Amino acid sequence: MRYLVLSDLHGNWEALSAVLTATAGRYDSVVCCGDLVGYGADPGRVTSWVREHVSVVVRGNHDRACCGLENLDWFNPIARAAALWTQRTLSPENLAYLRELPKGPAGLENFAVVHGSPVDEDEYVVSLEDARPLGEYLPAPRCFFGHTHIQGAFEYVRQNLRTIRLSGLPSETWILDRDNWYLINPGSVGQPRDCDPRAAFALFDTDGDALTLGRVEYDILTAQRKILAAGLPDLLALRLATGE
Ligand code: ZN
Repeated sequence: MRYLVLSDLHGNWEALSAVLTATAGRYDSVVCCGDLVGYGADPGRVTSWVREHVSVVVRGNHDRACCGLENLDWFNPIARAAALWTQRTLSPENLAYLRELPKGPAGLENFAVVHGSPVDEDEYVVSLEDARPLGEYLPAPRCFFGHTHIQGAFEYVRQNLRTIRLSGLPSETWILDRDNWYLINPGSVGQPRDCDPRAAFALFDTDGDALTLGRVEYDILTAQRKILAAGLPDLLALRLATGE
């Protein structure tokens, strides 16, 4: 089975459209590591698309915030403003959908998806030090996560752990090692923060254990204009250009 793995879409329709165009015909099913909304100007369109096309979704912290499940005091002022705007903008159906999203991990045929980490949906897994203690908690040999908006993977080789490939590389497919376990971040569709402004995604073929971490350029200018026209904080538009 061939999967398209998406994370951190953040209401960016232009980025999602570009990913779908770039991956058309290359997957059988779509899964998502959360944060459908928050920051971007098209939360409704993105959520409706996910409702219709994504088979397995776990909730992200922004999904919780934007449907009233989160205390917004924990958010910085910009994220809070975006969450309140998103809450006002979403239809009752989409708000209800976000409210019902399950907390990860969610299991599939031989892999799992989580938002932050397998033990804490709000944990940021950035460094080897962050990833190391999680090895014994991985719910499956291949586990996809998001939340950091940084594309890459951690490979667990018996007692050793190493980082494989970070961002900014051209699309390339790797055959994962059957004996090793992996914590894989497809990167963020809608707001990359690994200094590569292109929309990020992963393709995972469970038959061949083949993983592709891909990037695609999208119409950043239109996404920025929509954010400004919506009255969302300027920074949310500016940061899309640099991917930071
Ligand atoms: Zn996010």
